[in-house]
Amino acid sequence: MSAVERTAVELRGVSKRYAAQARPAVQDVTLEIGTRELLVILGPSGSGKTTTLRLIAGLERPDAGTIAIAGRIVADAQRFVPPEERGVGLVFQDYALFPHLTVEENVAFGLRRLPRAERRERVGMLLELLGLEGLAERYPHELSGGQQQRVAIARALAPQPSVLLLDEPFANLDAGLRAVMREELRRLLREFDVTVVLVTHDRDEALALADRVAVMLEGRVVQVDTPERIYHEPRTRAVAQLVGQANFVPGRVIGRIGESDLGTFTLEGVPQPADQVDLLVRPRDVTLEPHPHGLGVVVDRRFCGAEVLYRVLLPCGITLETSQAPSVDLRIGERVVVRASRGQLVAFAGAERVGRVALLEADRAVVPNGMVAREVDGSPGPGSPEG
Ligand code: ADP
Ligand code: MG
Repeated sequence: MSAVERTAVELRGVSKRYAAQARPAVQDVTLEIGTRELLVILGPSGSGKTTTLRLIAGLERPDAGTIAIAGRIVADAQRFVPPEERGVGLVFQDYALFPHLTVEENVAFGLRRLPRAERRERVGMLLELLGLEGLAERYPHELSGGQQQRVAIARALAPQPSVLLLDEPFANLDAGLRAVMREELRRLLREFDVTVVLVTHDRDEALALADRVAVMLEGRVVQVDTPERIYHEPRTRAVAQLVGQANFVPGRVIGRIGESDLGTFTLEGVPQPADQVDLLVRPRDVTLEPHPHGLGVVVDRRFCGAEVLYRVLLPCGITLETSQAPSVDLRIGERVVVRASRGQLVAFAGAERVGRVALLEADRAVVPNGMVAREVDGSPGPGSPEG
């Protein structure tokens, strides 16, 4: 398979500025989306997500850059392929169903050129796949939000597009339905030979759904990565904060060795030695253990059912927000030992990630008589002779 066939959608240096806008809505975006990939564009409101979808669909012309679909250039300085010739289906945020057409007629809308029998068969198949069989004769206003969404998806899939674009597909659904529809959509899309670009401002949705996440901030794509890497190895502080609760624990580095309230660590991959870094600590990245001389002090706890959220004050002045299993039962005011539960964290200097951090086994754990003590977990330390 050639590289061209494996890339379903390709944007190269794409920019778009609306008239009377100071800053471009989309700025120098380069993005490669693989065939049958589910790529989620995550960004806050106004970051350029909808504009990116409209550029791919052909509803906007780029000011600069190239857009290719299935290896064919659909927009550049000379060329512009109209939306209906791009093989792209778009589901708008408000679904945009035709109010005067029934469910069946809405789904059949893009199939007018098919022979009648074939059209009926395809519409029937789509209604069945989307669980809409009993609703074929209804009008959009007679449907729930979830049902309207499924009609919009069926209508977009009907002409067998190679690319399906979904703009905030769950925004109009209530929280309970949202989780159900998320699962259903993932299952459904696997049945179709289709590449999906889904746009959302909801980080949980992005992480749960995506093969890869593209984070957009102020018109730019800042990082494209797997959900795990976006969450644990964000490229910038802004991405770290966008995709989840982020604590930044300061560390002092000399050479490749650092010290922090989580313990001694080694730092890899720093371009220039930074003497002051911040370690990114997610809520589940630490464990808490009650200890009369622990470095941390519990300052708040909040019971959330499946987990308990603790706020723990560290000597560095940071209040760490962490979620623990309900079996971890700590009182406000109690001293705790705070240990990293992940062996690897990432470090930031300024706005950027500068390298990976490996915490050493000996924990800087307790403060007896104001002295920093080291608690070794029993495994042979670096100096111990082995075998
Ligand atoms: P998002 O979908 O991430 O919320 P949009 O792509 O809709 O972002 O918008 C990006 C920026 O472009 C915003 O500042 C928005 O106000 C502006 N914008 C969007 N559509 C238009 C338009 N038709 N005319 C002028 N400005 C627009
Ligand atoms: Mg939008």
